Amino acid sequence: MRHLTRLAGIFGDPVAHSWSPALHRAAFAALGLDYCYLPFAITRAALPRAVEAIRALGLVGVNVTVPHKERIIDYLDSLTPEARLIGAVNTVVNRGGRLIGDNTDARGFTAALRAKLGMTPRGKAICLLGAGGAARAVAVALAHGGVKQIVIANRSTQRAVALQRHLAAKLGSRAPRIDAVHLAPAALRHAASSCDGLINATSVGLSARDPRLVPRRLLEEFSFVCDLIYNPVATRLLKDARAAGCRTMNGLAMLVHQGALAFELWTHHRAPVRVMERAAAALGRAPQKAR
Ligand code: NDP
Repeated sequence: MRHLTRLAGIFGDPVAHSWSPALHRAAFAALGLDYCYLPFAITRAALPRAVEAIRALGLVGVNVTVPHKERIIDYLDSLTPEARLIGAVNTVVNRGGRLIGDNTDARGFTAALRAKLGMTPRGKAICLLGAGGAARAVAVALAHGGVKQIVIANRSTQRAVALQRHLAAKLGSRAPRIDAVHLAPAALRHAASSCDGLINATSVGLSARDPRLVPRRLLEEFSFVCDLIYNPVATRLLKDARAAGCRTMNGLAMLVHQGALAFELWTHHRAPVRVMERAAAALGRAPQKAR
């Protein structure tokens, strides 16, 4: 029988910074699977042709990152209910030429929360900073996990309200209580008094020069603080939260678990999560320019 190396990859622009190739390659090697995972820098204009190439070249699938997570939906054959609910795709699976869009970010976040903090969102009140793609996935994870209340705080209040309405419309009677507020100290003070945990799903903290998102004293009100950012591994928010006595989680575990779920969809093998964690941790220790 003719043997072909199977190919997967990630579509994004830029994509050179992505940690996904290292995680997946480590996982393939650990299981002795003959797969190759490549980063593909795909411009917006090239996206339709790139998606067609998944079929033409017989890729098992791809991960999808900024700026294509939403627009790629137009070129796929179907979506999983979760991808439809989130309104974005981070994983495409090629099933015999039919391209299915999935989103493993929400399940990845839930798995990370369980693995790192030993908890589920059930019955909790959460202050969620951000209303972009990552926040949408986390909000869905929280809702599916039985959260009691989500306070969405975003720089653009309009976008927070749009997410609140989207979730209320899609989840119907299963929706938790959702409030949408402007990301400002007064609203955060109010949220802090009623919320158990804080999750940063904004991109603030990616740079060491970014301003402080949450006043230090407010953090004492939360029992746990998560930051979806994984590079740097300890943002100013997480350092402040640790100093305030909160339990903390950075974005590495979510990155690993969303990747592990994609790996399983493509290969039908259980993902070696520990191996992927070690690969991610090694990248976290690497000097900036090597990332
Ligand atoms: P989006 O561009 O979709 O959303 C960005 C969010 O950040 C918006 O809510 C935006 O607010 C907010 N924001 C940006 N700049 C500022 C600022 N100066 N002050 C306040 N708010 C700001 O990005 P994503 O949702 O895709 O990603 C968000 C973060 O999550 C990134 O850091 C990314 O690395 C991380 N992430 C981590 C994952 C993981 O596996 N760990 C997976 C996916 C993402 P506004 O709406 O007002 O513009």
